[in-house]
Amino acid sequence: MEKAYFPMKYYNLTQGYINSSTHQGTYALDTAGKDTGKDEIYAPFSCKVTKLYIKKGHAYTVWLTSLDKVKTANNREEILTMMIVHPEDIANLKLGQTFKQGQLVCHEGKTGNASGNHAHLELGIGTCGWHKNSSGVYMIDNAVKLEDYLFLKSDTIVKNNKYKGIVYDIKKETEENPTREYSIKYTTTDLNERTGPGTNNKSVNVLLKNTAVKFYEQNGSWARIEEGMWVSNNFLTTKKPTSHYKSMEVYNCQSLNVRQSINGQILKSIPVNTVVSVIEEKNGWTKIGQNEWVYSKYLK
Ligand SMILES: [Zn+2]
Repeated sequence: MEKAYFPMKYYNLTQGYINSSTHQGTYALDTAGKDTGKDEIYAPFSCKVTKLYIKKGHAYTVWLTSLDKVKTANNREEILTMMIVHPEDIANLKLGQTFKQGQLVCHEGKTGNASGNHAHLELGIGTCGWHKNSSGVYMIDNAVKLEDYLFLKSDTIVKNNKYKGIVYDIKKETEENPTREYSIKYTTTDLNERTGPGTNNKSVNVLLKNTAVKFYEQNGSWARIEEGMWVSNNFLTTKKPTSHYKSMEVYNCQSLNVRQSINGQILKSIPVNTVVSVIEEKNGWTKIGQNEWVYSKYLK
């Protein structure tokens, strides 16, 4: 899943929303690139143009909505819309036009009420447009704070993150932030998968020896391989075995029935986020253990 990124190479705040009249009631941030010229604005996630406002004498505005849910800095998975105000070069964009994450969309500018080139950025949940708030300011619907939801790429240059002494800090994606990144490890034995780090937590499934899992973070001698799913790190290795099982995760349901055979008797059910070893896939069913089959459509 993609992460949602701040869309410029420089984070250079020129206006926040606290003690600000023109941003009153919003979570808008103005950012001015490297202070000279018109900096590039890149797609914060793979997205499509869902709304355009282009009117002479007014601030040109474009709305970019993510094509899929994205991972946010506060650990949510959401469809997000970013509203970008003031660019001059969006007249040729088309509704429905798509951009890959990181692709150039437009440049900051100063159409409308702007004293210098900058990007006025707002973020909303879902596919959203805008409305006039009680302070008379136009703002994005379902507004959320950029500093809660976006990551700064590790190579983003922070020039200024304060406005009137208030810090609007956007979390930088770094190596010290391993909970949101993972590496691949392999099980060295058949391994119990538990709902927490420790043998006192319920075992929900057994992963087969030589299953590739996502290693997100470590807690003592335990490794998290998915949200709320842990295995003993003592039985994981980074060394790739000559052959291995891929793993998938239960999603889109509360729990998933495990059956003795295709359409067979129910043996147990495993909760959402459980990681399973994939032995075989057949007619919409996936074999996850000796005489254990689940519906493939609830795995990703
Ligand atoms: Zn602004």
